[in-house]
Amino acid sequence: MKSEYDLLVIGGGPGGAIAARTAAEAGLSVCLVEKRPAIGAPVRCAEGIGKKLLHEFIEPDERWIASDIRRARIIAPDGTAVSLEESMAGSEVGYVIERKIFDRELVWNAAEAGSDVFVKTRASAPIMEGGTITGAIIESCGETRRVHADVTIAADGVESKFARWCGINTTVPLREMMTCAQYLLTNIDIDQTCTDFYLGNYVAPEGYLWIFPKGRRSANVGIGISGRKSTEGNRAKDRLDRFVKERFPEGKIIEYIIGGDPVCEPLDCTVADGLMIIGDAARVVDPLTGGGIYNSMFTGRLAAGVAAKCISGGLCSRERLMEYDETWRRSEMGRVLERNYRIKEFFITLSDHHMNTLAKSLASITLSDFSVKTLVKELTKRNPALLMKLNELKTTLN
Ligand SMILES: Cc1cc2nc3c(=O)[nH]c(=O)nc-3n(C[C@H](O)[C@H](O)[C@H](O)COP(=O)(O)OP(=O)(O)OC[C@H]3O[C@@H](n4cnc5c(N)ncnc54)[C@H](O)[C@@H]3O)c2cc1C
Repeated sequence: MKSEYDLLVIGGGPGGAIAARTAAEAGLSVCLVEKRPAIGAPVRCAEGIGKKLLHEFIEPDERWIASDIRRARIIAPDGTAVSLEESMAGSEVGYVIERKIFDRELVWNAAEAGSDVFVKTRASAPIMEGGTITGAIIESCGETRRVHADVTIAADGVESKFARWCGINTTVPLREMMTCAQYLLTNIDIDQTCTDFYLGNYVAPEGYLWIFPKGRRSANVGIGISGRKSTEGNRAKDRLDRFVKERFPEGKIIEYIIGGDPVCEPLDCTVADGLMIIGDAARVVDPLTGGGIYNSMFTGRLAAGVAAKCISGGLCSRERLMEYDETWRRSEMGRVLERNYRIKEFFITLSDHHMNTLAKSLASITLSDFSVKTLVKELTKRNPALLMKLNELKTTLN
C-alpha cells in the first residue's frame, strides 16, 4: 500500500467497487480498502435488482444470476394478490443475483482497471488538515498507516462511520431504520420466476416480507420492519419464523442474515472538503423498496467522475465536489428517491383494511406500464376517497 493516492475508497460493496473502477479508468491512482476478509461475504441483501438498471453497469453473467424473474406478486393482508407480469413490470422486476460472486466481479473489475485493493483492511479515522479530509488512518494486518488522498470516498455502507467521524450527521431515525432478517431456505417448492411481497401490519409492520427465488428449490425469504415496531417477541426474526413455519414447514435454513436498511431521506449534503459519500452511507436507498444496489453503483460512478475532474483541476473543495451532490439529486434516481419517500410515508399510515381495499381495486386490472408511478396513479384513480391524502403527492408525480 502506498502512502499517497489520488483517490481513497472506503468500502468494497457495489458503490465502492464502481467508484474505484470508474476512477482508475479515468487514470487516477486508486486505493480501495475493505474491512471484511472477503469481498461480498457475508451477504446482507435479498439480491434483487431491476434488469434495465443492472445493464447500465454490467452485462448479466450466468455465474451470478440466480433467477430470472418474470412476475411479481404483491400480497395484501387478507391474501388478495396483485400479480404483475414481466411484460408490464418495467424495471421493477429483474434478476435475483448471487452477491457473493457479483460483488467480487465488480471489485475484480476495479482491480483490473488498475485500483489497488486491500481486504481485511479498515479505515479507522479520517486525516484532517485545516478542516479538509486528506485521507484516512488505515489498519491492516496489525499495522497502522496514514494514507493520503486528494479525495476520499466514503462507501462504507449502512453502518457508515467515516462520514460521522468527519463531522457529518448521519443519524437514521429509529423508525426509518428497517431491521431485517433473512433466511436462504432450501427444500421449498415455489415458482422460481416469481417474487412475492407480503404486506400488512401483522406480517411486516411498516415494511414487507419477501420471497426472492434463488434457483434449485431455494429462495431468500426475508423481512424488514420499522425499527420502532421491533419489540420483544415481535422482532424481525420472530415474525419471519412464524411465516416460515406456516408457509414452508419443510424448508431448511442454509443461511441466516440480519441487517439494517435505511429508508430515510438522503443525507442533507453528500460532500465536504476532500470527501464524497455514496451508496448506503449517503442514505440513497429507495425508501419504498429498500433497494440500494443500483443507487450505490449510480452514486459511485458519478462521484468518481466528479472526483477525477476536480483532481485534474487541482481543487477538491466542498464547493467543487458539490457538482456530484447536485447532479444525483437532479437525476432520475434522485427524483425517484424524493417521490418514493413521500409514497412510503403515506403507505405506512394505512391500516390492513385499507391495504386490502387497495389490493382488491387493482386485482383485476392490467397495467400497460407498471412502475411505482403508474401504480400510484392507478390507485388514486380507483380510490379517490381513500387516497385524498395523496393529492400533494400527485403533484410531484405529474
Ligand atoms: C436484508 C437486506 C436486504 C436487501 N435487499 C436488497 C435487494 O434485494 N436489492 C437491493 O437493491 N438492495 C437491497 N438491500 C440494500 C443493499 O444491500 C445495499 O443498498 C447495498 O449493498 C449498498 O451498497 P454499498 O456499496 O453502498 O454498501 P455495502 O454493500 O454495505 O458495502 C459497504 C462496505 O464497506 C465496508 N466497510 C464498512 N466500514 C468500513 C471501514 N471503516 N473500512 C473499510 N471498509 C468498511 C463493509 O464491510 C462493506 O463491505 C438490502 C439490504 C438488506 C439489509
